[in-house]
Amino acid sequence: MNRVACAEELAARLLAYCEACRPLEGCGVLWGSRDADGLLITGYQPLANRANNPAQAFLLDPAEWVPLLLQAEASQPGAESPVGLFHSHPSSAAIPSAEDLASEWPLPTYWIAGFPEERHPELAAYERTGKGIRRQTLVLLPSPCRGE
Ligand SMILES: [Zn+2]
Repeated sequence: MNRVACAEELAARLLAYCEACRPLEGCGVLWGSRDADGLLITGYQPLANRANNPAQAFLLDPAEWVPLLLQAEASQPGAESPVGLFHSHPSSAAIPSAEDLASEWPLPTYWIAGFPEERHPELAAYERTGKGIRRQTLVLLPSPCRGE
């Protein structure tokens, strides 16, 4: 995967959603399609955080998550499907924690919305590779001009 593209406005809405979840962790999936270069993100879908300690962790509800996983597995190239799992770090940077690294990443990308103290919120997308993890280059697409 060479790049992950996402409309600037969509990335801003995802960060705003995660900000609204604070002090709890927000989580959900990103929808998109694959092409020869990588992924184009087309939307996000918040999911319930069922963790007992939702300020420090996230846990997906299988009733919501499993059907999305099945859709991802059945997806055809070019069609929209779940392509990323996101969660937020309500008071730390967008860097995978030990728990994040130990968990399975069943979708092609793993996203973190980070809210480090005294720094700007940040959205980061990671991919597992044979050697470990790699932070993806996030290409933010300018919003299309609307109007006559
Ligand atoms: Zn995390």
